[in-house]
Order: sequence, then structure tokens, then C-alpha cells
Amino acid sequence: MSGVSDSFQRPISYLRVSVTDRCNLRCVYCMPAGGVPLVPRADILSYEEIATVVRVAAGMGIAKVRLSGGEPLAREGLVGLVEMVSRIEGIDDVALTTNGVLLREQAAGLAAAGLRRVNVSLDSLKTERFRQITGYDALRDVLDGIEEARRAGLAPIKVNMVVMRGVNDDEVVDFALLSRQGWHIRFIELMPLVEEGRKPTEFVPASEIRQSLSSLGELAPCDAPLGNGPASYFQLPGAGGTVGFITPVSEHFCFKCNRLRLSADGKLLPCLLADDEIDLRQVLRREASPQDEIRKLILKAVAAKPQGHRVEQGVVPRKRTMTQVGG
Ligand code: SAM
Ligand code: SF4
Repeated sequence: MSGVSDSFQRPISYLRVSVTDRCNLRCVYCMPAGGVPLVPRADILSYEEIATVVRVAAGMGIAKVRLSGGEPLAREGLVGLVEMVSRIEGIDDVALTTNGVLLREQAAGLAAAGLRRVNVSLDSLKTERFRQITGYDALRDVLDGIEEARRAGLAPIKVNMVVMRGVNDDEVVDFALLSRQGWHIRFIELMPLVEEGRKPTEFVPASEIRQSLSSLGELAPCDAPLGNGPASYFQLPGAGGTVGFITPVSEHFCFKCNRLRLSADGKLLPCLLADDEIDLRQVLRREASPQDEIRKLILKAVAAKPQGHRVEQGVVPRKRTMTQVGG
């Protein structure tokens, strides 16, 4: 079946699935200081339920699935979900966004199950600073996880760094230099989503990050390493890897948004940065053959996609944090 487009003629081809709202880190910009109330386990979709949604979505033109969280590797048996989803007809790309802490043990199994590539979130290369940002002393685990993912053939590996003024902005040159060792680095603008956490003043616009890299030579625009995300990519002279910028705040990319999001408790979210949600869980659990109903609800979510978010005007979602939506 051919794909669906939303009211603004954007083809919808990408589903981001949050498989859990639990996380083994406490990143300051993501988790409120007091943590978040967790969804009761019984309300979390089973892997079979997630696969049912993906199957219907694949029949409507969704070709790419990204598993996220909370921390997806913290949910037991993720390999089984990867196996199920990667076998669904029409799905040609299964990817993962992870904090990397548990990647060393799981990378080989995930690759064998059909995972193609992985994005790892890493905001500092300094041990103590990593601990301050995430609440845990786990930098070595993340670096080992990245190495193991490379060995397992997961490619490309993209490393996402959220840049925060006065916290880690002095490391952007060190991160960018890793692109000379073949790494794909993406600098993400901090979104002001956690009220009790970091203040919006710590946001560093991508233009300023680029300026900080000027001593490294000209950044030449280049194609994205595999993927269809919102980043713009560049290469430093002689680098095998790339440097990307994701600018949700200074220059939002809603005009090319191609995605829907499924929360761990079975809500379909038309937009990351709005509070609208459509419940699939009830239908999944009520109907013996929920496919037609799910299809209608997916169409409803597509129709509800707003033209763009309004973060720069201070309009931010209040119902869910990033751990609950999956970034
Ligand atoms: N736990 C996994 C991880 O950290 O990669 C997956 C979920 S996490 C919510 C997905 C992405 O959202 C991460 O790359 C994280 O850095 C990003 N993120 C979370 N809060 C953010 C914020 N306030 N501004 C920008 N990015 C944020
Ligand atoms: Fe950090 Fe990801 Fe956990 Fe949020 S979900 S606290 S970004 S590791």
C-alpha cells in the first residue's frame, strides 16, 4: 500500500517507539530532579502489542522504526522485539537510540537480530563531568559499548551530544575531532523541557557551536550518513566521519517532519513537542483483531500533526517528559 501524508503534505514514513519509561541514568536535562512517576508495568505495551502496531503502520507506508525510551536496553528481552520488527514486511530499517551503558553486552545480539544502526547519547568525555550530568559513573561503559557496537557491525554509529552552556560546551572541539577517527558526532540544541532542571539560559545555538569549531578548518556540507533525521551534516578537512547539528530551537525542522511516536504506554503522539495523544492500548487490549481500528487511529494521529512546534515561544509539552516520549 502507498504511504500516507499529513495535512501539510509531509509523507509519514518513520515511527519512533519508546519501549520503556524506565532509565538507568538521570540526565539533568531530561529527568526532573524528583524523577518522573513511572507508568504501572501492566500499562506498558508488550513486545507483541508493539509489533502489532508496527505491522499495521508498515502497511501504511512506515518503513523505518527507531526504538528509544527511557533506556531501551534496560527493558529485558529487547532482542526479541528487534527480531519481530525487523521481519515485518515493509520495514527496511530498525535503529536504536541508547545511552550506551548496556550496549557492550547487547550489541552483538541486537545486530544478529536485525538491528542496523545505533545512536548513542554522550554528553561528556570527562569521567567526573559525565557523572555530574547523568548521575552515574558510567563513561567507561558507554565508550566500551560504542566500541562493541562497531565490532558488531552496527553502522553508522552516531553520537549525540546535548550542548549546555557552562556545563560541557568547552568539549565541542574534542567531540568534533572524533570525526577524524570516523565517528559521526551530532550536536543537539538543548530543549527547555525540564522545569526543575537546567535553565534555558544554558541553551547554546548551533551557530555558536559552529563558530567554536572554526579553528579546526572549514566545515564542508556533506550527505547524511545513513538515516533520515533532522540534522544537517558537515565534514572537517580529512575527516572520515561527520559533524552534524540538530537545531530544534534555533531553526526548527518541522517542515520535513516525517514521524509519529508511540509511547511506552501505547499512546500515539503526533508531535514530540505537543500534548496531543491518541490511545492505542485500549484498542489493542479490547479487540481480538485490532488492525482496522489501529489503522484508523494512525490516520487520526497523522491528521492531527501540527504544522510545527512553538518551543521558541515558550510553548512546551507538560504531560510527558522526554523519558516518557523517547526523544
Ligand atoms: N535513553 C536513551 C538515550 O539517552 O539515548 C533514549 C531516550 S533519550 C530521551 C533520547 C534523546 O533525547 C537523547 O539523545 C537525549 O540526549 C535527548 N534529550 C533528552 N532531553 C533533551 C532535551 N531537553 N533537549 C535536547 N535533547 C534531549
Ligand atoms: Fe538520559 Fe536518555 Fe535516560 Fe533521558 S532517557 S535520562 S536522556 S539516558
